Amino acid sequence: MSSLSVLPPECLLQPFPVPQRLMLGPGPSNVPARIAAAGAQPMLGHLHTETIEIMNQIKSGIQYAFQTRNRVTLAVSGPGHAAMECAIFNSLEPGESILIAVNGIWGERAAEIAERIGTDSVFTRKPGTKIYKVVFFFTHGESSTGVVHPIDGIGDLCHKYKCLFLVDSVAALGGTPIFMDEQGIDIMYTGSQKVLNAPPGTAPISFSERACQKIFNRRTKPISYFLDLNWLANYWGCDDKPVRVYHHTGPVSSFYGLRESLAILAETGLENSWKRHKEVAEYFHKGLEEMGLKLFVQDKKARLPTVTTIVAPPGYDWREITGYIMKTYNIEISGGLGPSAGMVLRVGLMGCNSSKANVDKVLEALAEALKHCHKSRV
Ligand code: PMP
Repeated sequence: MSSLSVLPPECLLQPFPVPQRLMLGPGPSNVPARIAAAGAQPMLGHLHTETIEIMNQIKSGIQYAFQTRNRVTLAVSGPGHAAMECAIFNSLEPGESILIAVNGIWGERAAEIAERIGTDSVFTRKPGTKIYKVVFFFTHGESSTGVVHPIDGIGDLCHKYKCLFLVDSVAALGGTPIFMDEQGIDIMYTGSQKVLNAPPGTAPISFSERACQKIFNRRTKPISYFLDLNWLANYWGCDDKPVRVYHHTGPVSSFYGLRESLAILAETGLENSWKRHKEVAEYFHKGLEEMGLKLFVQDKKARLPTVTTIVAPPGYDWREITGYIMKTYNIEISGGLGPSAGMVLRVGLMGCNSSKANVDKVLEALAEALKHCHKSRV
């Protein structure tokens, strides 16, 4: 007779087979065998010499992917949101202001994060008090609407007004050009689970000297201990201190995977990767239009090559379409998010998933879905 009142759950006593699925939503993307195998290598201590060497290689890989020479370049242990909070929590102190360009969910989220630390993003002040804007937040690839924003010129403008330029490139990095140093970006982050094709859970981020000047001379400590850049910079060997001090136990296996994904990007070459994503996206867009579907972003140059938004076909329930494609083809595509919810279907073609063969598969699945799903006549 067991003394335990809660018994081992029956569900955990059976194996759980995970299906193979073609992940063509806005992320996570499929993880190639090489990256999965890297993640399955033996466990090491998070401060062992080899782990530190892997972290150093990750830093170099991020510098290449971001086109930056920033010393403070690392991967946050967490998803894209962790990097978002790391960027905002470190660069702003309570009472300071952030200017946010909002044309999709990511600007909205940034505003919500900033608000939580008593930062002003709406720019209302009592008459007679001054507004200081210290950070400008901009989303490079708006995955909720499928828009890629041009970055040129904004960095100079920000610096002219003593403002840091913060860019979210979670959904775009590696799939479309960005040059952190040349474009005057002060803080930029991405996620592991999109073009990089690593599992979700690590988020590359980089800080310019200008950003570090502000961050390392704060009056107050950042609200988050876990995301405090003083600690993270030391853990990643980006400060001048001779030893790395224990801050948290880094996700060692995820670092193996991230290293491998950055190695694949380095072997492929950024320019080749950008070119392939562009060509595959254009091939997809042409196929969609030939089927009579409409792209949500009308300006061709503003279409994000990694995540395509398709106007939800009139008369259909978009959920039935995504459900049919999942059930019949084992392909994930998704609906809209935030402001685009109910308005679009979203298809991600990122990293290893960016291929004409995948486009053909998803076009066929969409055509069949439109034949088989219910269409209202009203
Ligand atoms: N920013 C953008 C542009 C994104 O597309 C996403 C993920 N969809 C995020 C931030 C957040 O990333 P995560 O889901 O990994 O937290």
